Amino acid sequence: MEEEWQRQLKHSIRTPEELAERFDLDVEKLRNVCRKFPVFITPYYLSLIKEKGDPIYRQIIPDEQELDNKELLYTDPLAEDRDSPVHNIVHRYPDRCLFLISHTCASYCRFCTRKRKVSDPDKICGEFIDEGIEYIRNHPEIRDVILSGGDPLMLSDKRLEGIIKKLRAIGHVEIIRIGSRVPCFLPHRITPRLANMLKKYHPIYMNVHFNHPDELTPLACKALARLSEAGIPLGNQSVLLKGVNDNPDTMMKLNQALLRARVRPYYLYQADMVYGTEHFRTPVETGIEMIKALRGWTSGLAVPHFVIDAPGGGGKIPLLPNYLQDINGDEVRMRNYRGRNFTYLQPDSDNPFQQEQKVLEFKAVSL
Ligand SMILES: *Cc1c(COP(=O)(O)O)cnc(C)c1O
Ligand code: SF4
Repeated sequence: MEEEWQRQLKHSIRTPEELAERFDLDVEKLRNVCRKFPVFITPYYLSLIKEKGDPIYRQIIPDEQELDNKELLYTDPLAEDRDSPVHNIVHRYPDRCLFLISHTCASYCRFCTRKRKVSDPDKICGEFIDEGIEYIRNHPEIRDVILSGGDPLMLSDKRLEGIIKKLRAIGHVEIIRIGSRVPCFLPHRITPRLANMLKKYHPIYMNVHFNHPDELTPLACKALARLSEAGIPLGNQSVLLKGVNDNPDTMMKLNQALLRARVRPYYLYQADMVYGTEHFRTPVETGIEMIKALRGWTSGLAVPHFVIDAPGGGGKIPLLPNYLQDINGDEVRMRNYRGRNFTYLQPDSDNPFQQEQKVLEFKAVSL
């Protein structure tokens, strides 16, 4: 019997013509854009659009600005291909690697960093899966495997289980992570069967991808609850996007809604320097402002790490508002979330007498 998620995929929008008709757009322009990166949208996600140009629309509807030719933007901004020892594996950090096991997603984000691979069956294909597993088996330093793609949950339960089972049979693989936007685009895919399959292979972690509070619908929250109840710790990775979530109020609502769904905000990414996505990029200061607007003002659990995935393959680099004003051997001067200044005294085990003096002076000043 056909399941609802299969029905959703079958009835997804896949052509510029369908889209042009639905939103009254210029079909010629859409065709040009879709030649670069195809359109693909589930009926469910499409139904979340309230009006043309809203945050859901912007993420998923092709835009002619994608054709703007900016010399500086890359097709592979993170130089992932360079850190790819075998097809489907990106091994950049000492103890963990990405394992790209699917070339499709449940819908296509217009700002995707892996446009060069996503939607192209020749770039990430099944026949290289065994090669990837072999690589992980031969590298005992890999204790954390991150299944990615495309979206790993686009595979059938059977194929996914086949891969996870082989990974679990490798002694040094301690944890398996799944990176997926399926709970956002196609929550129906999170069936009891899938959850029951995954929970046989713990510890499994999942990082989902929600960018806007409107994406956390009752259906999405139900899918997330099902994963939580299967014992899978959930994190969220958002991308900071112009016109989607680049204001403090939206960020606050998004991260609080995630916590209500038992999802811990993990990363907030500065948009990568990807070809055709210039219209989504915000100044880096905006991201720092987002963190400032969260830290202290709401639950610490709601504050993700703001990171730039460094162009050229430097990995993720966290950026923080400037809480640290000055640090030396004697003291640390800091600013709190409200902008007030505080001092912390460094330990001074060499000279207890001098330390006592310092503490007395410190108390005199603070009181
Ligand atoms: C993001 C990423 C990881 C995982 O990084 P964490 O900080 O451990 O979540 C691993 N490998 C690559 C290539 C990555 O881009
Ligand atoms: S779900 Fe991820 S991999 Fe797929 S199109 Fe969106 S950003 Fe790209």
